[in-house]
Amino acid sequence: MDRKNDKPILYIVVPCYNEEKVLPITVPLFKKQIFEMIDLGIISSDSKLLLVNDGSKDGTWDLISKYSNADSYIQGISLSRNRGHQNALLAGLMEAKSLCDISISIDADGQDDISTMTEMVKAYLDGADVVYGVRSSRKKDSFFKRFTAESFYKFLSAMGADVVYNHADYRLLSSRVLKELASYKEVNLFLRGLIPLVGFKSTCVYYERHERMGGESHYPFSKMLALAIEGITSLSTKPLKYVLRLGFFVSFLSFLGIIWAIISFLLGNSIDGWASTICVVCFIGGIQLVCLGVIGEYIGKTYLEVKARPRFIISDRTYVISDKD
Ligand code: UDP
Ligand code: MG
Repeated sequence: MDRKNDKPILYIVVPCYNEEKVLPITVPLFKKQIFEMIDLGIISSDSKLLLVNDGSKDGTWDLISKYSNADSYIQGISLSRNRGHQNALLAGLMEAKSLCDISISIDADGQDDISTMTEMVKAYLDGADVVYGVRSSRKKDSFFKRFTAESFYKFLSAMGADVVYNHADYRLLSSRVLKELASYKEVNLFLRGLIPLVGFKSTCVYYERHERMGGESHYPFSKMLALAIEGITSLSTKPLKYVLRLGFFVSFLSFLGIIWAIISFLLGNSIDGWASTICVVCFIGGIQLVCLGVIGEYIGKTYLEVKARPRFIISDRTYVISDKD
């Protein structure tokens, strides 16, 4: 399509897990944003808000159904069970792929500045296929959240998983990027690491990150750590290299230890060696377990990839599907 003359159909894709408290606040804001962009003449009036219910245990799906019945700009799909943020987001994007010209993914909680979408769409009209929303500051996050989040990006890039710094999953993707993304079949999904691999012309827009408008975060420290490990092991094999280097280093130390042991034996002080022997045995045992663990993590991932189970199953829709293509 001609970007400047045809107004693109935008789908705003929002994964929702137990968000009944926050949707009544943010859905009107998303709608306002859609209307604003339609009035500006930068998106088509066929644009929609697509809410993805990720197997919520509260009234989220009832709420989504109610909204979409009352409003033609709102649609919803529901996954057959909770599959986690990344899979829920992918489900929404894959659903939108053949219905839209551009998609913008954003969290349900209003933490990411909704009005930045205008700038994202303009960047698309200027030729970008991928527009990353990047947080310019984290003043509103707690010190702990800010510190762990920043360590998260540094750790990821040190381990060879390149991601855009301070960019989460707030981004615009054109439908041609979505179509290419569909051929990345991995079940160990880490979208923000995957999108740069898909390529196409990309740019960043910057915004301030707010506090959650209601409800609670689903990303406590333990889940952040799990996401970091997921990101690294699904994007990079650097940890395996580090493990190998560590193995060489420890072997070298052990070699020195052996020489020391033989010299001590020859000098006749071999009985004194109990404490040092135990230390060495424990040390090597610990390192071996860590290395086995890292290798095990990759074998586990391979196992899941080989099975190639579906990443999500859509059980309900608030509409009847009719592909644009
Ligand atoms: N989410 C989801 N499935 C989950 C957990 C979270 O779809 O299993 C959604 C959630 O509804 C929200 C987004 O992912 O829209 C980000 O979650 P949250 O705001 O809790 O994370 P944080 O912003 O604290 O990192
Ligand atoms: Mg949030």
